[in-house]
Amino acid sequence: MNEMTTIQTAKVEEKLYQNRYLVDAGRPHIRVKPHEVPSAGLLAMIHLCPAGCYSVAESGQVELAADGCLECGTCRIVTKGTGEIEWNYPRGGFGVLYKFG
Ligand code: SF4
Repeated sequence: MNEMTTIQTAKVEEKLYQNRYLVDAGRPHIRVKPHEVPSAGLLAMIHLCPAGCYSVAESGQVELAADGCLECGTCRIVTKGTGEIEWNYPRGGFGVLYKFG
């Protein structure tokens, strides 16, 4: 049998776009605590967060927009030793809604 098989691949960004996110306005489930200089771990979250929630302000402080958070817990683990973030799951009914397939 000599059949050609087509394998369809999708980029991670395309997969993530399938998810939906219900924002709990004014109640972000993750907060970056006030800081002067971010630790290396907190700074690394700009590249590590799979949802791109972290960014650096012109002041050099790390900022977080929790909308779109995948609740993977990476930032919680990376900053566990510094205590720079406050991490909770979203309230029931809010947060990411995964779409599979
Ligand atoms: S839990 Fe994961 S997706 Fe959410 S902000 Fe932290 S690293 Fe990003």
